Amino acid sequence: MYQDVSLFIDGVWGPAAGGKTLTVLNPATSEPIGTVAHAEKVDLDRALAAADRAFGVWKRISAYERSKIMRKAAGLIRERTDAIAQLMTQEQGKPLAEAKGEIGVAGDVIEWFAEESKRAYGRVIPARADGVYQLVIKEPVGPVACFTPWNFPINQAVRKISAALAAGCSVILKGPEETPASCAELVRCYADAGVPAGVVNLVFGIPAEISEYLIPHPVIRKISFTGSTAVGKQLAALAGLHMKRVTMELGGHAPAMVFDDADIDTAVKILAANKFRNAGQVCVSPTRFLVQEGVFEQFVDKFTAIAKGIKVGDGLDAGTTMGPLANGRRITAMEGFVQDAVEKGAEVRTGGKRIGNKGNFFEPTVLSNLNHSMRVMNEEPFGPLALMVPFKSFEDVVTEANRLPFGLASYAYTRSVKTANAIAAQVEAGMMSINHHGLALPEVPFGGMKDSGYGSEGGLEAIEAYLNTKFVTQASL
Ligand code: NAD
Repeated sequence: MYQDVSLFIDGVWGPAAGGKTLTVLNPATSEPIGTVAHAEKVDLDRALAAADRAFGVWKRISAYERSKIMRKAAGLIRERTDAIAQLMTQEQGKPLAEAKGEIGVAGDVIEWFAEESKRAYGRVIPARADGVYQLVIKEPVGPVACFTPWNFPINQAVRKISAALAAGCSVILKGPEETPASCAELVRCYADAGVPAGVVNLVFGIPAEISEYLIPHPVIRKISFTGSTAVGKQLAALAGLHMKRVTMELGGHAPAMVFDDADIDTAVKILAANKFRNAGQVCVSPTRFLVQEGVFEQFVDKFTAIAKGIKVGDGLDAGTTMGPLANGRRITAMEGFVQDAVEKGAEVRTGGKRIGNKGNFFEPTVLSNLNHSMRVMNEEPFGPLALMVPFKSFEDVVTEANRLPFGLASYAYTRSVKTANAIAAQVEAGMMSINHHGLALPEVPFGGMKDSGYGSEGGLEAIEAYLNTKFVTQASL
């Protein structure tokens, strides 16, 4: 059963002060399944006061103790996987197995950051004078405002909360209104593990109202946002105006480059699985399949065969390999992209249409004969569209890969070490995965460049983003 979702402020679950709620829909049926509390300013003020007070508490708890509490939270989310996955699939649509996978990764993320909290080392710099100690000290930046989207209701939130907690910060998370229950269950794991009241607060409401209030607020010292480039630019500008630290994880349009000498079967298998995972609603989803001419038709045929074999359905049904899109906006977007491309000459190899008129189901779609005038070749599709584009030379593929303002994920398949090294050096992207899919592990950096944002949500860099550097120089008397 789905459950109505409350706010979590200062350690207490409860309704919004004004009693308002928003409706949550099941994307597989388009039916309402529950509600989520809709915070207003008075709720945000309570969350700000709680985060401010609790920051003073949490930063004084030793990293060793913080780590123990966080590891307990990792254990709790693992124990609760099955129940939370049911909620996630009902509100977000992804197949149950994918929901369980996301929750498993969340346990790993919490655990990794728990360990790293003990290693937020400063350093000692050799001094010019005898008896002087030059110390570099890392301190938590302060209460953080986090904004996370609906595509990975837990994964997007767990990275931000865990890095903040590991550094000693308190958090106000504005979770995803369309997929609130699984995100709330994540927050419950930290609370049940013993994270003190006010250290993690969860609110929902009108995103723009909340960000416009929290970002300039003097209590908030850092902003972390995951979502579209357009919104990210607005929030980064507001944060800049108020001199707040910022991490921005924004959109992408990932090139997947397949060279003539690649292992084509491996490339097709891995890239197709990652294209249609979460129905393509993934910021690192491979999008432009740039395939060298000699293997182009072979690659497209094999890829299309896999797309045709995908079983689209309710994520709760056994055998479903791709669920519905998470909301109706994505269906409208897919239809618009396909229509625009076809009008300009694209060929639909498979798919291209909505399935039925109940739920947000869309066919896994493969398009070829594309050109740069088509919207889908320039805007992030964020859905199950695979764009097949042939290329001639190494220089051609680098030019196409770097053509767009995005620079998040990229992929390459080649048997040549020389080509692999050269492509990794020349593609403007925050991440490149060569001959396998190896992104988004807790211990490795995750982030973009150019319009895809800045900052990292994995690896050492992720904690650094929540720390201030203080320099202390001390002479002995
Ligand atoms: P959107 O741009 O309105 O919203 C994207 C996310 O930003 C949502 O979580 C939303 O709640 C939040 N948001 C929107 N306006 C905000 C504001 N003023 N302040 C704070 N948060 C705000 O559109 P959408 O229809 O939800 O998603 C469309 C596009 O967003 C997709 O095409 C994709 O490019 C991008 N997106 C990216 C990711 C990602 O993982 N990077 C996730 C979800 C959506």
